[in-house]
Amino acid sequence: MPRPLVATIHLAALQHNLAVARKSAPSSKIWAVVKANAYGHGLARGMRAFSSADGLALIEVDGAVRLREMGWRKPVLLLEGFFDPADVPVLAAHQVQTAVHCVEQIEMLEQSPVRSPIDVYLKMNSGMNRLGFPPETYRAAYERLRATPMVRHIGLMTHFANADDVLNPGLPLEEQLRRFQRGTDGISGERSVANSAAVLTRPETASDWIRPGIMLYGGTPGGASAQEFGLRPAMTLTSEIIGMQEIDASEAVGYGSRFIADKPMKIGVVACGYADGYPRHAPNGTPVLVNGVKTRIAGRVSMDMLTVDLTDVPGSRIGSRVTLWGEGLPIDEVAGAAGTIGYELMCALAPRVKVIEQ
Ligand SMILES: *Cc1c(COP(=O)(O)O)cnc(C)c1O
Repeated sequence: MPRPLVATIHLAALQHNLAVARKSAPSSKIWAVVKANAYGHGLARGMRAFSSADGLALIEVDGAVRLREMGWRKPVLLLEGFFDPADVPVLAAHQVQTAVHCVEQIEMLEQSPVRSPIDVYLKMNSGMNRLGFPPETYRAAYERLRATPMVRHIGLMTHFANADDVLNPGLPLEEQLRRFQRGTDGISGERSVANSAAVLTRPETASDWIRPGIMLYGGTPGGASAQEFGLRPAMTLTSEIIGMQEIDASEAVGYGSRFIADKPMKIGVVACGYADGYPRHAPNGTPVLVNGVKTRIAGRVSMDMLTVDLTDVPGSRIGSRVTLWGEGLPIDEVAGAAGTIGYELMCALAPRVKVIEQ
């Protein structure tokens, strides 16, 4: 028997969530973001589920080539650009679009040994101070790209730091929008600014192309719950109880004896640990479903196992079904308890976990 830990990917949920994005921005085209192996859901699976998207956007150059090899004919975009002069002929051969965020990338395009032009997005640093040209040098970068034979169309893009928290005094969304609008005023080209949080909560930011990621997988970028946005979980991680212990009050559980029983308890051992992608920093109390009943982690997560409180889970036994996240237990709730975000849990799903489609 294989280990009972399984990640079920719900293709219909992926399609449904894409439809939610479409409805939120009906006049925009959609770059469905499939970076990091489609947020842990599988690149090939993402490609199939998002066949009605207008383009697929990701980070990995080899992933972009793989999309072409798997038959994706619509646009493909590298959100973080390319990294080496040797990437340029690869992008040209496979007609992969790329973000351009620094002068070094412009130089690589200017010095390209091949001459089949590609479409690019010129990235503005509108205040996040990660990638992109600041507004003051944006126009000059645009003109330089326009004079580069390797470059065909130039799109204009930026990325929000706080779309899930628009009033953040560090950098309000309005301020980023203002800088982007001012810096691109009078420049022609398709615009793309909105990630999931902006698509869901600030529909007026939808421009020519939106770039939803997390919402397609049924997670929220923050704020309301996925359910309130009408999103469905695309990944359900399930396992089984593989061991049980009846312990007395004051007995301790697991490494470091982090959990100490305050009464006689029944402890269940679940086949899932941090080597599967479950967060080791999940504290006592992190929610888990056993037989559909919500209970909690008790004790430190180990590499291959974690321990839960079965004291009040009627009928629990070896073989009882356990849901770590997904249908019945929002990944955002688990992530919140563990001090992280749903994105990290999805992306961290380990290769050893069996994946099935439903
Ligand atoms: C990852 C990414 C997105 C998608 O962000 P979500 O918060 O997952 O919607 C959009 N744009 C860029 C540039 C990204 O890197």
